[in-house]
Amino acid sequence: MAEKDFSQYGVGTRGVRAGQRRTQEGEQSEPIFTTSSFVFDSAEQAAARFSGEEPGNIYSRFTNPTVNTFERRLAALEGGERCVATASGMAAIAAVCSSLLTHGDHILSSNGIFGSTTVLFNKYLSRFGIEHSSIPLSDLDRWESSIKSNTRMLFIETPSNPLAEVVDIKQLSEIARRKGCLLVVDNTVCTAALQRPLELGADLVVVSATKYLDGQGRCVGGAVIGSGELIEEVYSYLRTAGPSMSPFNAWVFLKGLETLRIRMQAHSASALTLAKWAQENSAVKQVFYVGLDSHPQHALAAQQQEGFSGLLAFELNGGRDEAWRFINGTELVSITANLGDAKTTITHPATTTHGRLTDEERDVAGIHQGLVRVAVGLEDVADLQADLQRGFDAVKKGKR
Ligand SMILES: *Cc1c(COP(=O)(O)O)cnc(C)c1O
Repeated sequence: MAEKDFSQYGVGTRGVRAGQRRTQEGEQSEPIFTTSSFVFDSAEQAAARFSGEEPGNIYSRFTNPTVNTFERRLAALEGGERCVATASGMAAIAAVCSSLLTHGDHILSSNGIFGSTTVLFNKYLSRFGIEHSSIPLSDLDRWESSIKSNTRMLFIETPSNPLAEVVDIKQLSEIARRKGCLLVVDNTVCTAALQRPLELGADLVVVSATKYLDGQGRCVGGAVIGSGELIEEVYSYLRTAGPSMSPFNAWVFLKGLETLRIRMQAHSASALTLAKWAQENSAVKQVFYVGLDSHPQHALAAQQQEGFSGLLAFELNGGRDEAWRFINGTELVSITANLGDAKTTITHPATTTHGRLTDEERDVAGIHQGLVRVAVGLEDVADLQADLQRGFDAVKKGKR
């Protein structure tokens, strides 16, 4: 059951090999331990396991070998000491807040974070006396001046979804450190293959494994990665509250990690090709993609990321009619709000992911009616371009 240290290896290699502990069967691919509990040799051993004197498995809400392998591999990828897996991305975020915050604390987040995260902060955590406010992602002066005496956590997603804003993680982590706050980065869009916030000074990374870590839209899961000390707090909450990852899902994600690096490179390459192409179309008012030279924060993104991921948004001239006509004009891509799938998806943020905001809130967030978001998958890029061209043709036709 010996485990090698992969810290000197590249991200691609770590994704394929880190964290594996072969059993005496000598398996090449990691096994799935579908068991809820574990058996002890004696009453003495049971007592030693429960008291923590002897390390080892007890019950799969606490630990499971397949889940542990996924955790070790993802920790190695993110460059963190320890990782704990959760039942979903939202369970990861909820566990971080529930275990590390208390009544009277304040969360300062960037605007436009994932919808359910906003609901968690504003509707549920507020009931326990935890405050939340949000500010524009990129404005470092604003972060510095918005931190209050009770601000305990800064929470960001960079690049933001769908408008692709970026913040300098290193500089923000210095502000957080100086002010005594934790910096938590939701790394779902880039993943460890393209961006490693812990190496840039963040305290914790949370991720929805449901998206790119799986990469083929099969399972729901999440994880938190960081120092041993912080993760122990999160783990201790999780094993009590219960939203742990199932061994089967852990195995799917583990296999996903083996192809993560190469998939993220392919998603990024196709998205960049389509972004450049869309930029040339006269029906397009603006393309939102950090990989474009014309993006105001391209240099920063190129420095802190190793690729720009597969999320691409563009605003069409016109409004909802044009956007809907575009979406309905496509034939190949899937009309759904998910992201991080091998299958390309297309969505109209203003009436789906951001549909519950008021017109004014949407305007402030920059989610206009003409905006279309594409989560570029792994199909041939020529086929995707041809399909999006059908969208542009449908917009044009509708005009006559
Ligand atoms: C999907 C998503 C989440 C939530 O993850 P689930 O696995 O759906 O619970 C959190 N943050 C981001 C950025 C996401 O895209």
